[in-house]
Formats: sequence, structure tokens, C-alpha cells
Amino acid sequence: MKILVINCGSSSLKYQLIDMKNENALAKGLVERIGIEGSILTQKVNGEKYIIEQPMKDHKDAIKLVLDALVDKEHGVISDMSEISAVGHRVVHGGEKYAKSVLIDDEVMKSLEDCIKLAPLHNPPNIIGINACKSLMPNTPMVAVFDTAFHQTIPEYAYIYPIPYDLYKKHGIRKYGFHGTSHRYVSQVAAEMMGKDIKDLKIITCHLGNGASICAVDGGKSVETSMGFTPLEGIAMGTRSGSIDPAIITFLMKELNLSIDEVNNLINKKSGVYGISGLSSDFRDIEMAAEEGKHRSQLALDVFHYKVKRFIGSYAAVMGGVDCVVFTAGLGENAPLSRSEICNGLEFLGIKIDEKKNNEGRGFAKVISTEDSKVKVFVIPTDEELMIARDTKIIVEA
Ligand code: ADP
Repeated sequence: MKILVINCGSSSLKYQLIDMKNENALAKGLVERIGIEGSILTQKVNGEKYIIEQPMKDHKDAIKLVLDALVDKEHGVISDMSEISAVGHRVVHGGEKYAKSVLIDDEVMKSLEDCIKLAPLHNPPNIIGINACKSLMPNTPMVAVFDTAFHQTIPEYAYIYPIPYDLYKKHGIRKYGFHGTSHRYVSQVAAEMMGKDIKDLKIITCHLGNGASICAVDGGKSVETSMGFTPLEGIAMGTRSGSIDPAIITFLMKELNLSIDEVNNLINKKSGVYGISGLSSDFRDIEMAAEEGKHRSQLALDVFHYKVKRFIGSYAAVMGGVDCVVFTAGLGENAPLSRSEICNGLEFLGIKIDEKKNNEGRGFAKVISTEDSKVKVFVIPTDEELMIARDTKIIVEA
């Protein structure tokens, strides 16, 4: 069975065609600048690039080109579209309705529309992508895999904000959490690596990329996560502030006369490690500047590491212990220095890093804790696309 995985953004689209026989990605691709000048598709097969530059006025054009690239005689990987058994779509927000992935039908489409107010930037392109696929592949089953679904097991006392309760009932204001597919995937791999049933494990997963979130996975279920009503809550990120005193917002509006859009832009695009360092949102640049003695870059790193450490400590408290900690995503997978700084001081929890293991190799799953560390610490490359494909296969076969 071959499954096409689609992750649709407002002007870009990522895709993978995965052969479920061996869970191998036959082709991976990225379409950029959809609807704007300079539209381009880049497909990779066995490391070899195939590039198509031609105007794509909308997502339907883009998906049509994706299908053309996949069946291309010279550069493609299948001979006919009918080889695609199903399509798995990444959908950011499933609200409270979806605790699991679901086969897309008219009712699901209606629910996705209802969730637009909760994810105004993300759900509309996801919906456009699904509709485009449906019109080009009307007989192929489609599955929606939600970023929020994994966190639907978070208990009520953890997802309710201490604001008037009516706001939850009338407007759905509560913690939802994001990156669920990634947290679910790496926690499952960690359990496999420990050779234990996930039901018997307390796992803390740290998805540290441009957007970053931490999750407490108790017995295979998310019981707490750092992102909230939106992906802005939690730890400081590349350009997002993470949790700050909410009164700062009203202060900025009152004293600096900032509009809603200006404040929104400030806390989403101008804050985080970028805001502190004044240099970059990319941790590589900041690490380099810190090494050169730039104080604000060092401070940005210190703030970030401190926040992650605080969450790990508090999530151990939430679960009454911790058996393993997982680092994943761009920074989590590639920055030994950050992993070391975050874990430094957590020896009291039973976390001990082996610096040699921490520093050697990348791009594969590995243990970085010492033999005698009570808590196992792992680096596990995330694979949201594979998780989406697995869910899609299970649902379609059922
Ligand atoms: P997202 O999917 O949220 O855009 P990624 O998971 O791809 O983000 O992570 C991207 C981030 O990972 C980059 O902004 C960069 O800061 C960080 N990163 C990637 N490689 C390294 C590295 N070798 N050292 C430090 N940070 C890195």
C-alpha cells in the first residue's frame, strides 16, 4: 500500500509518498510560492532532485503538479495515480471533537470549518489542500491527522484556564496543545528502545524546533503539554515569546499605544530567542554569537535552556516521576550543547548525560544518558509524516 502524505501551508506544501510495505519514503517533496510569482516544486528521490518551475495559481495546481511529478516517466516513482491507495492530511486543529485521526467525509469537513476560528492561520490552508486532493482524486480515501488530537487526554484541571468558565463553554478557550503527532511518535519509539510497554512508562518529550513544545506522556497518553489555546504558550521559541505575564500585553497597548495586530506581531514574530538576542531566530547563529562572547545571545540561550529545564522538572511532578526524556526536532536532534545545558542540574531527578554519547553522530535515534542514569535520555529524529501514513493505513484498512 502506498500512501501520500500532505502537509499544506498557506503558500507551501510538503509531501511524501510512503510505501507501507517497508515504511520507506519513495519520494519527498516541497512546493513553494503557491499563488505567487516564482512557484517551484522540488522532489527528492533517493537523494536526487527533480525541480519544476512553473506558475501555480492555487493549491489545486500545486497538487496536480505533485501528482505529475510522482508519475513522471523519468523522475517519478509510480506509473499511475491509482497506485496511491490513500492520502493522509496533516490538520493543525481538530478542536475537542477529534481525539484520534479520522476518515474525511462531509461531516469532518464541516467540523474543520468550525475549527477555523481556533486556528485562523493554519486550518484554512489544510482545508484547501484536502479539497484540492478530493477534486483530483475523488475516489481515493482521505484521512485527517490532527496536531491537537494526542492531547485530548489531558485532564480537565490541566486544560481549563483560570478565567471565567463561560469563556470555555461559549468560545472554546482551553488548552489544546500542538505537535501531537511528533510527541506521539517519539514517545512510541522511546518505549521500543527501552524494550518496555509504553503503558508502564512516564516519558517527557521535548520537541525543540523553531516552534517548541514539551509533553508529559504517562502510560502512552498526553497528560500535559506546554503549548495551549494556541502554539504561543509555553517555552520561549525562535520568534515566539512563549508564556509571559499577560499584563504585559495590556501594558504595551496602553503605554506604547500598540494595536492588536502590532502586539500580536511582537509576541509571535519579534520575541523568543530572536527578541532577546536581537540577532536571529536560528539557534545556530545564536550559538555562534554566544561563543564569540555576545552577551545577549548567551542570555537568549540561557533563558531558553532554563525554561525547558523548568518544564522537565514540573512534568516529573505532574506524573510523579519520569523514566525517560526525549529530545527531538531541529534543535533537539542537532544541538548537543543545548541538551547538555538543559539536563545540567537535573541529576536530582536521576538524569545523567554521557557527554561522549551526546556529542557523537546525528540523524539516528540514540541514548545519551550514562549507563547508571536512573532516567534514560534519548535523541530521536521525529517523523510526523510516517505517523500520518500509519494512521491513514489503519483507518483505511478498517
Ligand atoms: P520547524 O519545523 O519548527 O520550522 P525544525 O524542527 O526544522 O523547525 O527546527 C529548526 C530549528 O532547529 C532551526 O531554527 C535551528 O535553530 C535549529 N537547528 C537546526 N540544526 C541545528 C544545529 N546543528 N545546532 C543548533 N540548532 C539547530
